[in-house]
Amino acid sequence: MLRAGLMRHGPVSAHPSLAKGNLEVRFWGVRGSIPTPGEHTRRWGGNTSCLEIRHENLPPLVFDCGTGSRELGVRLLGEKHRELDLVFTHFHMDHVFGFPFFAPIYTPGYQVRVTIPAYSEEEAREKIARYLNGVYHPTRLRDLPSKVTFAAIRPGDSFPCGGFTVKGLLLNHPGGSVGYRVEVEGQSIAYMTDSAPFARPGEGVASGEAPNKREADVIEFLKDCDVVVYDTMYELDEYLDRMTWGHSYPDYALALCRAAKAKHLVLFHHAPDARDDQMDERNAKWVAVSDANLRVSCAREGEAVKAR
Ligand SMILES: [Zn+2]
Ligand SMILES: [Zn+2]
Repeated sequence: MLRAGLMRHGPVSAHPSLAKGNLEVRFWGVRGSIPTPGEHTRRWGGNTSCLEIRHENLPPLVFDCGTGSRELGVRLLGEKHRELDLVFTHFHMDHVFGFPFFAPIYTPGYQVRVTIPAYSEEEAREKIARYLNGVYHPTRLRDLPSKVTFAAIRPGDSFPCGGFTVKGLLLNHPGGSVGYRVEVEGQSIAYMTDSAPFARPGEGVASGEAPNKREADVIEFLKDCDVVVYDTMYELDEYLDRMTWGHSYPDYALALCRAAKAKHLVLFHHAPDARDDQMDERNAKWVAVSDANLRVSCAREGEAVKAR
């Protein structure tokens, strides 16, 4: 279902026509569950989920508002844009905690269009208002000086987002999470967090079998994608101990990406316990499985990955 931007958030200001350029994703928070500042996470980063998707001339498209969004918000104020889209995967705290610390929402004249998996605009607004209600945070949503608007999407929707086209897909996570695929000018980046595998160990695509129905849907969703950012919080042995926690492991993401003929898999939502030296090892291990068809790397806070 394609819905007009006008219907979703009111008028979107006109942008100059796109010059040819790279679509890229910059990681402002790569950690899962809880921020992990400290000497052991300095190089790979301790902030929780926040991604910035950029293409020249388009306003920023931000996914999730974990603690990484604080630094991003400060950076955005120094740029020419006075509008952005912010899309949430789900409302676990590691994806929401940064919202009241995100500078654009305190900037008069800044337009922040928030898109949330929900059944209605009112429910979408309520999900944030519950947090900015004077109890969990001193700021109240109604007191913000910027122009914050809300839109609801359901998994399966395809919708325009400030010049990008975005599609959602329901993932496998307690309470639900929505994965997204962003497209512009034939380039694509998918953001797939938080999600457990869609098949039991020993079954499905990661075991060399034909994909089950849900796996087939994910593979279709990721078809020929330039960059796939995927929740791989655990290694396989850790996953087997925590199968109901709603997170995946690299071999599983790799199997999906190979079946989908995706070009670059970026491992994401790193475990809080993963220290820099362990992340170095993990990165070396998974970079080494890259081949001519699929590149593999670990997301690092502050780094950007280009679609092409
Ligand atoms: Zn998470
Ligand atoms: Zn979650």
